[in-house]
Amino acid sequence: MNSKSLITGVAGAALLAAFPLITGNPYYIHMVGTIMIYAILLFGLDIVVGYTGQVSLGHAGLFGVGSYTAGVLFLKLGAPLWLIIPASIGVTAGFGALLALPALRVTGPYLAMVTLAFGTIIQILINEMDFLTEGPLGIKVPKPSIGGFQLDEHGFYWMVLALMVISLVVVDRILKSQLGRAFEALRGSPVASDCMGVSVYRYKVYAFVISAGFAGLAGCLYAYSEQYISPNTYNFELTVLFLLAVIMGGRKTRSGAMLGAAIIVLLPKLLDDLEMFRQVATVLAVLMAIGAVVGILRKMTTLRQMALPVVGTIALAGFSFWLESITDWRLSIFGLMILFVVYYLQDGIVGFANSLFVRKGVRKNVQAMADVDAAKDAIMQAANTGHIEPGQDLLTATGILMQFGGLKAINQVDLHIRRGTIHGLIGPNGSGKSTMMNVLTGIYVPTAGSISFAGSSVVGRTSSDIALSGIARTFQNVQLFGEMTALQNVQVGLHHTFASNLVDVSLHSPRYKREEAASVVRGLGLINFVGLGDLAQEEARNLPYGKQRLLEIARALALDPQLLLLDEPAAGLTAPDIKELVTIIRKIRDHGITVILIEHHMDVVMSICDQVSVLDFGQKIAEGKPAEVQANEKVIEAYLGGTAT
Ligand code: ADP
Ligand code: MG
Repeated sequence: MNSKSLITGVAGAALLAAFPLITGNPYYIHMVGTIMIYAILLFGLDIVVGYTGQVSLGHAGLFGVGSYTAGVLFLKLGAPLWLIIPASIGVTAGFGALLALPALRVTGPYLAMVTLAFGTIIQILINEMDFLTEGPLGIKVPKPSIGGFQLDEHGFYWMVLALMVISLVVVDRILKSQLGRAFEALRGSPVASDCMGVSVYRYKVYAFVISAGFAGLAGCLYAYSEQYISPNTYNFELTVLFLLAVIMGGRKTRSGAMLGAAIIVLLPKLLDDLEMFRQVATVLAVLMAIGAVVGILRKMTTLRQMALPVVGTIALAGFSFWLESITDWRLSIFGLMILFVVYYLQDGIVGFANSLFVRKGVRKNVQAMADVDAAKDAIMQAANTGHIEPGQDLLTATGILMQFGGLKAINQVDLHIRRGTIHGLIGPNGSGKSTMMNVLTGIYVPTAGSISFAGSSVVGRTSSDIALSGIARTFQNVQLFGEMTALQNVQVGLHHTFASNLVDVSLHSPRYKREEAASVVRGLGLINFVGLGDLAQEEARNLPYGKQRLLEIARALALDPQLLLLDEPAAGLTAPDIKELVTIIRKIRDHGITVILIEHHMDVVMSICDQVSVLDFGQKIAEGKPAEVQANEKVIEAYLGGTAT
């Protein structure tokens, strides 16, 4: 967190703390308290929705589990607060794991359905298990006491505020750590995450569990706040409202979650009160107009882009004055707002505001990061695995058969990759080269055949496991984590260098700080190594295509691999860039890393490969030194014939 946001945060918290003393009105105190409780849940929901990119319609159910853990523990055991809070978090986190397990098998609309079913089942269980939950009767939960001191409305409000601030700090720390990067990575590209040793499976479960923990805390506080819980609170509408809050407020920001919480608490009240609705609609229209003018002046946006939103909000304001009574229009206005957000504010309100005002901050960071340049030379030494024993096989593939239905994409291929060499894999399009890489990295399990890497078998192991054992790769179709910076992309590759756990990350333990600092230094070193030093803070999706390919190489090297697989790294590169690439690949080999290179540029293959294997229609038709292969009759016929460059 930088100093500016720290000051804003402290000022905001102080203002919130003073709020009960300023108003004194219990209705408003309870309302702001509810917003803070929802905010805690939304911090957690944003981990799943905003970062890992999964849809969860099960969070009202988890919220209910938190409430009922508190309610039941109080009702049956008269348990004290200090026991109820951790129990609610723990039990709900357990339910989060339960939710994650089936949810992991499916994505998209199916995932939404699975989580929805989960939420519904929870609600039914609460309703039916009346020996535990009192069923539809509900449970009364009085305000708690801390150490014999009975909390009143004010005391409870402050406790909620304290817990929200703690939640905010903890979530923020998690999301800025290697865990947060893992969550974001699996949204950006699941296949690349796995191939960087970040198991998509494990981190999805992790995200759901952490998210559920916060839902549990929020649910527990909600029970105390309302002083009465019953099953029908935790229904479908609430779960949709939670999702809307994250999207409207703005995913991937804590301020967005708080804003979203405020919206879902206040909006229904706002739509009950015509006078207030008119005022808010007017303010909204004015703000939108100002935002548009600023945006256009700063060349962040164009008149054309802004015309409709501005006209839309002004029309809404005009509409509000024309209305006689609002009740009939409530749902329509709500729906319109949702449409508006989906079309025009896809990054939510906070995301939109940031795009107008905060963009300048990025450049400054680049400057700060450039100072770390000094450390770059240390890097490739660290990456140097050292043990080059040329002549020995690092990887042996025997009798590989990969069948897709009737198609034998790879047919009985043997490969011997010697340590410390650059091994070319060439062949016409569709000859099975990329498929071979996918087999070697565990994305496909071969129909038949065996693969031994550094003495142990690869077949049947998961991609992340194989990656961690020392095989790194790039992809023919670039698979970067688009919304993450170049540096963060490489840091995902460095995930294996972290031993810090959730507690280390939350408390910023010395171990975590050391590991994070080291990953920045090494990450920048690797980025410099591929010549992208000045782009470290740029989002990967904004890099030119050729640079994206280089960034993929840096990320792969971060794994500290023994074997590096490059799938057409020169595709889309300009001639000078290709020369640079050849130098980089040579340097990589000189550091003791074995390389398998798929490439269409024959001059590249011929100049740097020690050995070349040629595939055609899934079969190996030739193998040997580049010059031998180039002269081979079969190869000329199948591949080089006429098009040799
Ligand atoms: P190359 O990389 O040499 O251009 P590929 O390995 O991508 O070729 O493809 C080899 C053959 O396998 C192609 O005919 C391709 O259509 C087929 N293939 C690759 N992956 C799959 C898949 N997942 N399902 C079906 N066919 C596939
Ligand atoms: Mg290919």
